[in-house]
Amino acid sequence: MNRPLLCALALVIPICASAQNPTKPEETEVWSPVPKIVTPAAKCGDAPSDAIQLFDGRNLDEWKSARGGGPAGWTVSKGVMTVNKKAGDIETKRLFTNYQLHVEWRVPTNVTGSGQARGNSGVFLAATEDGGYELQIMDSYNNTTYVNGQAGSMYKQNPPLVNAMRKPGEWNVYDVVWTAPTFNADGTLKSPARVTVLHNGVLVQNDFALKGTTQYIGLPSYKAHGAAPIRLQAHGDPSPPISFRNIWVREL
Ligand code: MG
Repeated sequence: MNRPLLCALALVIPICASAQNPTKPEETEVWSPVPKIVTPAAKCGDAPSDAIQLFDGRNLDEWKSARGGGPAGWTVSKGVMTVNKKAGDIETKRLFTNYQLHVEWRVPTNVTGSGQARGNSGVFLAATEDGGYELQIMDSYNNTTYVNGQAGSMYKQNPPLVNAMRKPGEWNVYDVVWTAPTFNADGTLKSPARVTVLHNGVLVQNDFALKGTTQYIGLPSYKAHGAAPIRLQAHGDPSPPISFRNIWVREL
C-alpha cells in the first residue's frame, strides 16, 4: 500500500494510527477511566477509606470460630486480641478473593520454647477444606528453624527473602497482596495463587506463585475453591500466645 493511502486510512481506522509511533505527547495520554479516590489514613498503617476493618481493637464481630462457626473465643483487652489456644483457630465471617491485607502481631516478652514451638501462629490467606495457604507467624528473632517455616515464609513452600523480625514485645506488621488461584470448570488449576508480603516494610515475598495449599506433611497441591475466609492460627505448641491488633483488608 502506498504511503498517502495508508495515512488516509489511518484517519478513519484508529488501530492503524496507533500502529505508528506517536509523534505528539497527547497521543500517549490516557484520561479515563479516572481512578476512584481513596483517602489514606492520617497515620501510616491505619485503614484507608475503602478498607474493611477486621479488627479495630474493640471486638471480634468480624470473626467466628473455625471449629463449628460459633463465636471466636479469643481474648480482647486494651485494643489487642490474644490467641486462645483452647478455642482454636478463628476466621473471618466474610469471604474474600483478591485483596490487600494489613495485620499487626506481637510475640510476648515471656515467650518460651524453640523452633516451631516458639510464638507460632499464622495467617491463612484463604482457608480451604485442606487447610489453606499459610503465611507463617512465629518468633524468628534469634530462633532457628527450617527456613521455609520461619516468620515471613509461605509455609514449606518459600522462605522469606530476608529476616525482618522485630524482637518479642515489639509489634510486627505484615502487608500482603493476595491474588487467589483460579480454576477451570473441570476443577483443574487455571492460574496459581500469587502473594507479595512486606514484613515491617521490608519485602519478604515477591509475587511468589504458590504450588498449592501449604501442607505440614507432604507436597502442596491445588483443590478447586472459590472465595474463602482469612484464618488466624491457634498453634498447639505450649509457648505463651501471641497477640494481634489493627487488621484491615481492601478487596481488589
Ligand atoms: Mg503457623
